[in-house]
Amino acid sequence: TGNGLIVSFGEMLIDFVPTVSGVSLAEAPGFLKAPGGAPANVAIAVTRIGGKAAFVGKLGDDEFGHMLAGILRENGVVCDGISFDTGARTALAFVTLRADGEREFMFYRNPSADMLLKPEELNLELIRSAKVFHYGSISLIVEPCRSAHLKAMQVAKDAGALLSYDPNLRLPLWPSAKEAREQILSIWDKADVVKVSDVELEFLTGSDKITDENALSLWRPTMKLLLVTLGEKGCRYYTKHFRGSVDPFHVKTVDTTGAGDSFVGALLSKIVDDHSIIEDEPRLREVLKFANACGAITTAKKGAIPALPAEADALQLING
Ligand code: ADP
Repeated sequence: TGNGLIVSFGEMLIDFVPTVSGVSLAEAPGFLKAPGGAPANVAIAVTRIGGKAAFVGKLGDDEFGHMLAGILRENGVVCDGISFDTGARTALAFVTLRADGEREFMFYRNPSADMLLKPEELNLELIRSAKVFHYGSISLIVEPCRSAHLKAMQVAKDAGALLSYDPNLRLPLWPSAKEAREQILSIWDKADVVKVSDVELEFLTGSDKITDENALSLWRPTMKLLLVTLGEKGCRYYTKHFRGSVDPFHVKTVDTTGAGDSFVGALLSKIVDDHSIIEDEPRLREVLKFANACGAITTAKKGAIPALPAEADALQLING
């Protein structure tokens, strides 16, 4: 695991998740309070396997905001890039677990503190020290956090960081599917590493075929690595010079929340000190095997943050 700093930019929130599926939160006999937000999960995924991560974003100056910052701090994530908004409250998600196991989200975001991060509130010194800058796309939806997001990306890139993007599609957040697709693809050529899930591949291409041809329609010459994660089927990778698949690990899956974030955190912490691993297929395959192991382990426990593995857990799964 590398020593270089991975800065993860975006939102952190609390999911309220019913204890049983098939009913809404209001009808459930109980609920769990699960801290999450993809960029925050990625930061903790990195520190859990021994890497260095900072979270940059805005929280409400309220009970939930300070609770979330405390969770990052307890997990060794650098918190110097967090701002607190005294007006707006921390983002919340109210989850419905459908009978088929899929999740539906309702968000408190009108607006929530994360959407109010301003460019002038960015900790530029911290962002300039990043070797990898990772982001999702929720913060690209509205101003002023969109401007803050674009500025942070540029500052990190100018300072030599590798840019990593996971669109994290959560449709109810966008005014329409068309806008979501346009907005996500509008910054598609800005990232060096892009990770999409099979569901996002379908959404962005408009085709349900998980083929190389379809994946490569999302390729841009500016990219160094395009990844398609396939849940229990592992992942596929595409670079300028080679492409292939890495097999999954089989575990007893109970909750897939956070698997993609765990995968991304693992990948980034293995390439942070040497970005050229991306161009070396055998070494890249080793890294993706480790990332698949981390993703798989995350599905074997409930929740995202509590389920993120330590490096030793992943090595144990790999070495049997
Ligand atoms: P996302 O959470 O972004 O939808 P995926 O569900 O594809 O991403 O998971 C990311 C990675 O985690 C996969 O590429 C795979 O390696 C691993 N993974 C996810 N679900 C499972 C599963 N049910 N069994 C084994 N590995 C899994």
